Amino acid sequence: MIIVLKNGITKKQAEDFKNHLEESRNVKVCPIAGTLSTVYGLVGDTYKIDIDSLRQDDIVEKVMRVQEPYKKANRKFHPDNTVIDVGGVKIGDKKIVVMAGPCSIENYEYLDALGSTLKGYGASIMRGGAFKPRTSPYSFQGLGEEGLEMLDYARKKYGMPVISEITNIEYLDEFMEKIDIIQVGARNMQNFELLKALGKVDKPILLKRGFANTIEEFLMSAEYIMSGGNDKVMLCERGIRTMETYTRNTLDLSAIPVLKQLSHLPVIVDPSHATGVASLVEPMSKAAIAAGADGLIIEVHPEPKKALCDGSQSILPDDFKELILRLRRVAEAVDREI
Ligand code: PEP
Ligand code: MN
Repeated sequence: MIIVLKNGITKKQAEDFKNHLEESRNVKVCPIAGTLSTVYGLVGDTYKIDIDSLRQDDIVEKVMRVQEPYKKANRKFHPDNTVIDVGGVKIGDKKIVVMAGPCSIENYEYLDALGSTLKGYGASIMRGGAFKPRTSPYSFQGLGEEGLEMLDYARKKYGMPVISEITNIEYLDEFMEKIDIIQVGARNMQNFELLKALGKVDKPILLKRGFANTIEEFLMSAEYIMSGGNDKVMLCERGIRTMETYTRNTLDLSAIPVLKQLSHLPVIVDPSHATGVASLVEPMSKAAIAAGADGLIIEVHPEPKKALCDGSQSILPDDFKELILRLRRVAEAVDREI
């Protein structure tokens, strides 16, 4: 971190400020005294420093970060890829992991139709929402606790780990018991109390990028979870909001290599929510794999037209099967497996 001091301050003011920084912020201050102004280079745990509070000091002209404000999620301090083991499924390794299932858990009939096919078609993890963060309070809100119960049934019956979204910390104990990966949805990416609570548990977390959040904000949210002690975090790019209306969101493909460069955490792509259109799931899945994604999370429904949520972006189980076969060729081209 670089701090430029204002012109005209006294030597004593500069000296006092240096001592104050070293004592209160646990950093070493390296001064460079120019003819007009003094510049301080700060070394140490500068990611812990609140840059805005420094800017408010009367003798400070400018503050600039040299290092990223996140540490635990940063590849600089953890050069190797993080691989997360979820019941034997390794996420972040050579094999691209596919999570698939309905937007919402609706009934046992659909659950069994998916449970008995998806694994054989190439999915390793089953997705399903129980608590749905819907834009309208009049839309289907999910089955809640009953949905978690049904996912627990499915994972036991079909031997597949399950992922589901948490919207309220009140249900954390039930998620801990019945769910293998806890999803934080785009709308809760900056629900910091939720992130802090998830930092204290021993459970993999799939953190979705908010639709209006920068990559740095995304990584800072991952840092919230990791700084609490839970380092099993996956980053999920699910599209951001742009001026384009043809697709539900715009899949930020370049976020994939950027996240891989900046962080060691696995990167998962959600082509379903990113596009909102079933026919775009395949091309965007191919692009995601080519760009370096470690996994995909895809909405699959036995009867998309009757789905209570997100039917227009859900694909049929048979189409999912064909999709995985076609993705295999893309995965091979980038030296991965699926
Ligand atoms: C979901 O995965 O069901 C979901 C609601 O996704 P997002 O938070 O990305 O909108
Ligand atoms: Mn959905």
